[in-house]
Amino acid sequence: PNNDTEPYDYLFKIVLIGDAGVGKTCIVQRFKSGVWVESQASTIGVDFCMKSCEVNGKKIKLQVWDTAGQERFRTITQSYYRSANGVVCAFDLTRQSTFLNVEKWMNDVSKFCEENVSKLLIGNKCDLTEERAVSREECAKVGSYYSVVDYIETSAKDNTNIEASFIKLATVLLEKHSSSNLQQEPNTVFGLGSRTKPVKSTCC
Ligand code: GDP
Ligand code: MG
Repeated sequence: PNNDTEPYDYLFKIVLIGDAGVGKTCIVQRFKSGVWVESQASTIGVDFCMKSCEVNGKKIKLQVWDTAGQERFRTITQSYYRSANGVVCAFDLTRQSTFLNVEKWMNDVSKFCEENVSKLLIGNKCDLTEERAVSREECAKVGSYYSVVDYIETSAKDNTNIEASFIKLATVLLEKHSSSNLQQEPNTVFGLGSRTKPVKSTCC
């Protein structure tokens, strides 16, 4: 059955950012289908996938946008960020450069996202303990500097904290939207403008 047609209470748009190779596409694949796909084709375009979950008795639909290789060319456009309710900024725990570039990604977020966007920081590839290049303390510190809702260490390969990360963000978004006057009719996309209409989906 295609759960894309199931009714839901809230739909949130989440965009994934971070350097090429940190594991964003693997994270989405794992979250969406529960599978591990070793090597991901890097396509140019717009990728998104839909995944339903339940938080506090509410049916939440997450529309997760992957950058589809654009991050390699630093051509992620303003429109990619504009209608995001949540941002997942991922880096690779084994490559310090990807951690240092969190600053660059967070700058883009503050430039292009709505001010009240919820941010989650993810240190991926935590299965590679021997190759770890940044300490948890350092990462958590950077996370709180950027006022993220949480810093979480994940492994798409081992399926560590992948679902938990999205649930965490969904929970924060639900709290935010149900306590504000932004509550809308079911099946209304928060802040999703027509200019960012998905053009194709390759991950689901
Ligand atoms: P993206 O460019 O950020 O979308 O990164 P990909 O999802 O394409 O992954 C880049 C590489 O990292 C691939 O070779 C993956 O197999 C690998 N990778 C992704 N996630 C993990 C993980 O959690 N652990 C390990 N060991 N490798 C991972
Ligand atoms: Mg990718």
